[in-house]
Amino acid sequence: MMELKIQLVPTGEIILPPGRNGESHCHNCSKAVGSEGVRVMMESALTARDRVGVQDFVLLENHTSEAAFIENLRKRFKENLIYTYIGSVLVSVNPYKELEIYTKQHMERYRGVNFYEVSPHIYAVSDNAYRSMRTERRDQCILISGESGAGKTEASKKILQYYAVTCPASDKVQTIKDRLLQSNPVLEAFGNAKTLRNDNSSRFGKYMDIQFDFKGAPVGGHILNYLLEKSRVVHQNHGERNFHIFYQLIEGGEEDLLRRLGLERNPQQYQYLVKGNCPKVSSINDRSDWKVVRKALTVIGFNDDEVEELLNIIASVLHLGNIQFGGEESGHAYIMADTQIKYLARLLGVDGSVLKEALVNKKIIAKGEELMSPLNLEQAAYARDALSKAVYGRTFSWLVNKINISLAFKDEVYPTSKSASVIGLLDIYGFEVFQHNSFEQFCINYCNEKLQQLFIELTLKSEQEEYESEGITWEPVQYFNNKIICDLVEEKFKGIISILDEECLRPGDASDITFLEKLEDTLGGHAHFVTHKLADGKTRKAMGREEFRLLHYAGEVNYNVTGFLDKNNDLLFRNLKEVMCQSENKILTHCFEREELTDKKRPETAVTQFKNSLAKLMEILMSKEPSYIRCIKPNDAKQAGRFDEVLIRHQVKYLGLMENLRVRRAGFAYRRRYETFLQRYKSLCPETWPNWQGRLADGVSTLVKHLGYKPEEYKLGRSKIFIRFPKTLFATEDALEVR
Ligand code: ADP
Ligand code: MG
Repeated sequence: MMELKIQLVPTGEIILPPGRNGESHCHNCSKAVGSEGVRVMMESALTARDRVGVQDFVLLENHTSEAAFIENLRKRFKENLIYTYIGSVLVSVNPYKELEIYTKQHMERYRGVNFYEVSPHIYAVSDNAYRSMRTERRDQCILISGESGAGKTEASKKILQYYAVTCPASDKVQTIKDRLLQSNPVLEAFGNAKTLRNDNSSRFGKYMDIQFDFKGAPVGGHILNYLLEKSRVVHQNHGERNFHIFYQLIEGGEEDLLRRLGLERNPQQYQYLVKGNCPKVSSINDRSDWKVVRKALTVIGFNDDEVEELLNIIASVLHLGNIQFGGEESGHAYIMADTQIKYLARLLGVDGSVLKEALVNKKIIAKGEELMSPLNLEQAAYARDALSKAVYGRTFSWLVNKINISLAFKDEVYPTSKSASVIGLLDIYGFEVFQHNSFEQFCINYCNEKLQQLFIELTLKSEQEEYESEGITWEPVQYFNNKIICDLVEEKFKGIISILDEECLRPGDASDITFLEKLEDTLGGHAHFVTHKLADGKTRKAMGREEFRLLHYAGEVNYNVTGFLDKNNDLLFRNLKEVMCQSENKILTHCFEREELTDKKRPETAVTQFKNSLAKLMEILMSKEPSYIRCIKPNDAKQAGRFDEVLIRHQVKYLGLMENLRVRRAGFAYRRRYETFLQRYKSLCPETWPNWQGRLADGVSTLVKHLGYKPEEYKLGRSKIFIRFPKTLFATEDALEVR
């Protein structure tokens, strides 16, 4: 007999119960096993449950215990079972090693199969969403959350691969499939970087629509990007790197290309690449990644000229970083050498002397007259870095746009129809709490509050809707509604964002500290807002004077206000903008449009842009049926096999998993369609075996009475049976096993 890993169903990972097609299969190789094999498997099955835990947390005996929750995760992690459900939510623990669970056979196994019949897997979630989209004609979205390094981006790639392999295809569709897949390496090259937490950390949020035609084939896609961490272009913390593309180009670029770009094959030569002191990373091969990215650009539809223009910009950023200023500390800064300016003039297609002027002067318009005000050393460095960030950030947005054009859904059969159905994938930063939290964490955590709102709205709402449509009465569940925190951040006039914007617009003495004071004045008594000031005039010792604390749904976070105004203004001096608007680089002409110079309206602040794009995202997600994937990082060392309990407990809390489980348990833990339920358990009752001839509801009713279900344990809806306690179903499953 083949070697088998054995476990109970529905905790079972390996065997299908007997009765399905009359025989059982080994899940590893899909070969049928004879009755002897089944008997052997069953004998081991009961001990297997102890070993590998339950595959759905809803089945935990002690479901309110966090310790039991974590113990179950640990058992499964140890057995390389990285996926576990909470009802229909998938919890995934990053294995930090390649597992043999993503093969084509695995994909086949999950195709068209019922969620509960097979072991938990990301393919089950993918397939379920796909089938709901096809059968119910409802757009879907899969929301992936978790902290940096928890496996969100890998998860989204696995989902995309699943669709690329299993969905129907034609030649044209193949092109779109290729482009969908190849958009990843490109976006990762320009938007990911090595951080302390993740060697391939996404430094932007991403929402991607995959569009399917009426036959269920992927025919298009669209990407929305959020809040690229532009500051990384000019500064990296120790042990971190700039965006991958810089190193890929330097390590992998062909000799003549580098010559044209004026680059040396040594990252240590570039100021923007040396700050983190980490040019090489053992898990990254920049040279081979370069080849992948270069090819991907071609697949997506970049021609050679466009690639050249793009790389001109990347090289320009490196040259900009190497510009050094001379001069007295408070005197007029000047540019030490013309080397970089020469390259920049050529690569950016701008007038070198104008650029040179613009880097050390600031244009002021006073009483209708233009004046040039010289910059000092610090201001000049600030202006240079602002230019680098603006150039890189806008180029990234252009890139996303370009990818979108190449993924655009063109329905050639029904050119005017908008009949595509959609599955959206959201891979966005999870809740962040660091030692030092700044503007970026504030935005990210605000985003997570909004997503939690959505979760509450969608899951509780859909739960309620299902009970209603099935005609089941139920008691609503109590839960913490974080709307109060969302309002605290985004309410008009008196929310944190409004106050921040107001300070950014106010001429005169506005500073990070006056911003904090305004927050105190306006929000001082708010239940979720705290500063060092106590009501009795004393100071709270544990907090700094530049900090405010928000009591988020997931926990407390102290934010340091230093840099808030600057980051929110995201200012690029006017004369630098003017230079860029004259650029002959075709990409930059799209990035810096001349209207911007004549536009009298003040550009939106960073946080308001983010708030508006989040509001749009919420609308998009609200219109879809959601599935959830909650990713957990098992340790900070990026190591396989290490289960750091403290770290995991934090994440279980931040992801709201216990509450999730409570909500799920408070109603009916399990629901199954009548035909599925009968099919699975009919062998347990002589009247339903081998086939029930009457109405399905009557068959189920007969079956559960025979099994001894008590009236309070279940309800029969219009098309489904609802089972209140998992142990009821568990006992039935056991009966199936020991029969
Ligand atoms: P996130 O996007 O949440 O920050 P990633 O998806 O980039 O995290 O994952 C970080 C790293 O963890 C990956 O580069 C990979 O090495 C590893 N990893 C994540 N998910 C898996 C998985 N399912 N199997 C194997 N390794 C994984
Ligand atoms: Mg990521």
